[in-house]
Order: sequence, then structure tokens, then C-alpha cells
Amino acid sequence: MRAWGIFVALQDGGGYGAAPRIRGAKVYDSQFMLARRARRLRPAPRGEQTDTETTMGHAELTLHDQAATRQISLDEYWMPFTPNREFKADPQMVVRAEGMYLWDDKGNKIIDASSGLFCVSAGHGRKEIADAVGRQLRELDFCAPFLRAHGKQFELATRVAELTPGDLNRVFFTNSGSEAVETAMKIALAYHQARGQGGRNVFVSRERAYHGVNFGGVALSGLVNNRRKFGPGLPGIAHMRHTHLKENLFVPGEGEHGAELADDLLRAIALYGAETIAACFVEPIAGSTGCLVPPKGYLTRLREICDAHGILLVFDEVITGYGRTGQAFAAQSFGVAPDLMTMAKGITNGAQPMGAVAASERIHDTIMAAAPEGAIEFFHGYTYSGHPASCAAGIATLDIYRNEGLFERGRELSPYFLDALFALKDIPVVADIRGYGMMAAIDVHADGAPGRRGQVFQKRLFANGLNLKTTGDCAIIAPPLIADRSHVDIIADILRKTLATL
Ligand code: PLP
Repeated sequence: MRAWGIFVALQDGGGYGAAPRIRGAKVYDSQFMLARRARRLRPAPRGEQTDTETTMGHAELTLHDQAATRQISLDEYWMPFTPNREFKADPQMVVRAEGMYLWDDKGNKIIDASSGLFCVSAGHGRKEIADAVGRQLRELDFCAPFLRAHGKQFELATRVAELTPGDLNRVFFTNSGSEAVETAMKIALAYHQARGQGGRNVFVSRERAYHGVNFGGVALSGLVNNRRKFGPGLPGIAHMRHTHLKENLFVPGEGEHGAELADDLLRAIALYGAETIAACFVEPIAGSTGCLVPPKGYLTRLREICDAHGILLVFDEVITGYGRTGQAFAAQSFGVAPDLMTMAKGITNGAQPMGAVAASERIHDTIMAAAPEGAIEFFHGYTYSGHPASCAAGIATLDIYRNEGLFERGRELSPYFLDALFALKDIPVVADIRGYGMMAAIDVHADGAPGRRGQVFQKRLFANGLNLKTTGDCAIIAPPLIADRSHVDIIADILRKTLATL
């Protein structure tokens, strides 16, 4: 009755092509699946309903509509950041999503406690975004981004600039957070060169940082697996210490201890010379490596040191942007404006790939002014920079955030959310809990090899009806900003129940 790795049956209507038959392949028993699915989708008897029903109901409808199944091979697709062999032996396939929920291929309804991958802040299946993308593709599907432009690029850039702090009003589009990081590195280098300080080509970042997967971001990131697997990477990168201190364990929000860790930037200056350092990259809250909230005063101190030494401060807001911290960006929540800001994920609610860099007017104007008339001022760009469909998705997403007041909504729900998660600290397997805004993390004590227990944790959570991202032995919880208290209760209940089994 189970698939053992080679084929999995999915609903028809999703456009999946039939897979070539592989000798010896085993398949799901589709009739069994359909019967189970029908059972699971039947409304729970009164009194047993534990969650708020979704608003539109289309996900349930499409599931009910699908009678046929077909088989697809699991062999060809090489999954990113996934234990492929383990997944393919026991696939966790998602077939539909709406509002706060996902549905798997067996019809189980799963609350999405990590907004997909921190991107679906307005909830899944937003019709407004789908319609905007469809309309855009019918009207103008593609427009060369070099030498040609379309209106939605300018419109979205203006809308983004309305949300960014200070004078971060010049917006360069990319297709992902990783590309935004590479772009920000290049802008920093180009800026210093344009102002006659081309010797500034060292970057400072932090241990336990995650800045994406391209070579610049890999070098900036503070993850040992990058060094182990991909060699030394870019030269000229210095790492400050991370800010996860035992003095701040189980402290919600900013910890009292550790502002002085910002002085690690002074140590880099002492070692390399300020005149060689282009920029200091930090995530205001380190997201992927486990919601490391900065200690009080830490970011302000970094800002002061950067100002004193002509170093650009770059905030990587790929996760923290678009309401996760209760304001449009963490820069506003912490009252510190960077010179460059990277963003992605929430900019399109995850519905289209997109990233961006917001640069200060000073940086932009310096680069423009240094180039000869008629020359390309910044020698960089992607074929899909500012793709019409992504821009349409971005504008529709920002409309939703504004019209539904989702940043404010997240800010209001945050104390309830954090209280519910910090209440889990009595469970023996829990090693630390951190949180800020609508993002939190739970560390569990390692069980032998690092990450082993975390992997078991996320799989059991999924089986118990909760989706989230784990990094090593840390679970990161960041639900869509449309969540209400009942969703937080469901998330906390499933976490408690599952933690008790570890
Ligand atoms: N920067 C940060 C802070 C991130 O959290 C991520 C992804 O999670 C990235 C960069 C890379 O973004 P992407 O996966 O879109 O390339």
C-alpha cells in the first residue's frame, strides 16, 4: 500500500506527465488513497473541529474533484537541501494549499507554520495574485530587461521604496534572495570604486549567517558545510561571532547581553584596515539558522562603527522583510537604517520568484555620476530581472499587505504567538526558545549526530498536521500573517504533542 521510492501517485489535473514505467517500481494504491482522502476531507463532527476553516474553500473543492490518479517517477528530480534518498523512500507530497493550510496527497490537512519557506505571508492561494499574474502574462509575457522596460517594474520599485526606511529608494530586481545578496555585494564594490576607494573589497559577515547559495553568499554565510563541501570560496571575507549567547536562552525578543559583540567589526578593521572593507552584511535576525534575535543595542553599535569607518551596512532582510517583525522591515523594528537592503520571499508572497536590493540614493547617485555619459553605470543584471509576472505578483501582494493591514495584524498577534511558544519551555527535550515578531525558533537537545533529532521532529510534525522548516536541531516557526489566535493554538498544541514524543 505504500510507495517505496520510485513512483508516487498524484492527482490528475495538476498537469503531471505520465512517467516512464521502470521495471520493479512500486506504486501507491490509488484507490486506497482516494478512499482515505475522502474520509479525511469529510467535515469533522461538531465539537471535534479544532481549527478555523479556510475562507475560499477552493483547495478542498479541487481535491474532491480529482478522481483519477497517475504515476510519476521520483527518480529524475534532484531535490534541493533535502535528504533525497530518505524523502523518496517516504515522500511527503503537497498537492494543494489555501490560507493557512496545505493538503498532502493523502488528503491530510496540514497547518503551514513556516509560511512555505517564510514567503507566503498573506496566506496560500491568493486569488488576487493569481489573477494579476494571469492578466500580466496574457498582456505582456516578457520584456527584455536590458535597454527595454515595462511599467510594472517602475510601479513595483516605487511601491517597495514607499516601504523601505530612510532613503533606500533605488530598487534593483533579482529573482531570488541569493541573487539579491550577490547584487548587493557588487553594488557595494561599485560604489566604493565610484567614489575613488576601489581598495575596499573585503566583506565582513557573521558566523551562523545564511546569505543564500551563490558563491558570494556562500562565502558570507557562516556555515561549516559550505567550507567542507565547496572549498574556501571568495577571498577577503571576515566573520564576526554570532549572537546566540547562553545568557539570553529562553529570552523572548532582544536579549540584554551581547551588544559588545558588534565590536568584532572593530577587530576586523584592526586586522584588515578600514580602507579595505567594503561592507558589513548581517541579517537583522538570523533566520534560517534559527531566529537569532540581536541583543539590545547590537545593530545600533554596528551602524555607528560602519559610519565611523566608511563601511556600508547591509541588512539581508530576505526573511525579516515584509512584516515578519511587525513593521515592513526589521530595520524599522530595530530603528537602524542600513545602506543596502536585500529582500525576496514575501515580496511576491512566494507566488513568483523575485528578489530585490534597495540602495540608498547616495549609493545609487554616486555610481550613476561616476560613469561616462551613455555608458552602462552598473554592469550587472539578469534575464528575468523585473519579470512582468513577478512584478504583477509583487504589486498585487503589496496591495494585500496594505489593504488587509497584515503587518499591523502580525504585530498585534506577536505577543500571543510568542507566549504560546515560550510556554513549551517546560518540555525536557527543549534546549532553547527564541522569538521576535511573528518568527520564533525551538532548539531541541541533539540526539547523537547533530540534526538527527531535528529531522525526526519535522517529519513527525508533518505527520501530525504541521509543516515547518528545521535547520539542524532547530525548528523555525513563522506562520502566515493572516493567522489568528486559533491557528497559534493549533500550532502550539501540535508542537507540544510532538515534542513529547522525541
Ligand atoms: N538571505 C537570507 C537571509 C535568507 O534567509 C535566504 C533564504 O532563506 C537567502 C538569502 C537566499 O534566498 P533564496 O533561497 O531566495 O536564494
